[in-house]
Formats: sequence, C-alpha cells, structure tokens
Amino acid sequence: MIFKNKKKSSVVYTAGAAVLKKTAEPVVAVNDEIRQYAADMLQAIRVFDGIGLAAPQYGLSLRMVVFDVPGNNRSGTPGEEYLLPRMPLTVINPEIIARSSEVDEREEGCLSVPGIYAPVVRPSRVIFRAQTLEGEFFELECGGLLGRCIQHELDHLDGMLFTDRLSPEVERRIRGDLKRLESAGQSRNYRRISKK
Ligand code: ZN
Repeated sequence: MIFKNKKKSSVVYTAGAAVLKKTAEPVVAVNDEIRQYAADMLQAIRVFDGIGLAAPQYGLSLRMVVFDVPGNNRSGTPGEEYLLPRMPLTVINPEIIARSSEVDEREEGCLSVPGIYAPVVRPSRVIFRAQTLEGEFFELECGGLLGRCIQHELDHLDGMLFTDRLSPEVERRIRGDLKRLESAGQSRNYRRISKK
C-alpha cells in the first residue's frame, strides 16, 4: 500500500521548554525552507485551533509568526481592515514600532500554556511592521483582538509568555497550575502532539 500525502503530526512546545525562553533569530531570506516552515505552522495552528502561533512555539527559534485571527471583534484600526481579510497570514521579522499609552485588560490564553487563562494589561493599539511571505512590507496601526494577538505573539519571539506579564495577584492565582503544567511537560520534552 502506498501512503500518499501522509501528514506529519503537529507539535507545539509548552511552558518550560528552552526554545520558548530564547530570543529568536531574524529570518535572513524567505526561501523554500522558510515557506515549508510556514506551511507546517499553518497546519499546526489549524489542528490546535489557535489564532496565532509564533515559530518558537513550533520549536523554531526564528522571527516568524502565523496569524489566523477571526474577522469579528474589530476596533476599526487600519491594520485590522487591511490584515483581517488576509487571514491566515504569515509574517516575517515582525516588529512593534510604537504602542498607545491607552491600555486594555483582556483575558489571554496560549497554545503553549494549555488550560490556563488570565487577564493581561497591554497597550490598546500598536504600530505593527512586518513582511509577508510574498515579500510585501507593511506598517499599520492595529488594535482590537488583532492588536492584542500581535503583542502576545511577538513576546514569544523575545522569550516571553503571557504568564510573565501578570499582575502579582493574578500571578499568585495561577502559579500552582503553571508549576504543574511545567513539571508535567518535563516527562514529554515539553511537546504537545496533535492527534489529527
Ligand atoms: Zn502564545
């Protein structure tokens, strides 16, 4: 029997994994290898049902993110109008070049921190600069769920999780669950493997 187009199982690294604590390296050139990583990350975001996945979560210490943010829940910024119809979207070497002084508090979760949700305070809007896989550069103001997701994913490129940004009270509340997640992860090399 011939097994054609057999899909690889997808992996997401969980809290405690060394790759999640590293500063990721810039992507030097968008070549076939990078395009393959993007395709693999797109498969992972689908099977794990995420809205954003940064390359370190996939075990790649590279400055690259895949977004699949839903089109509802908009705040009306130009970046949402431009980018949400283009989902799913892979971005290369993304940067936040400015942040609003106005902040929002919103509940966050993470594919790398399964089962834990907590409120995080972040700027309401950011100026987001990145390159697409096709080589288009853009620089756009992004708010709403997209602006939030951009900030969360870009933290992954600098070795940070949302659990590093909690108020002391919230941090105390989830500390036990996070410790349990990290020690449970140790026995499976911090890998979540999709069953699909
Ligand atoms: Zn995350």
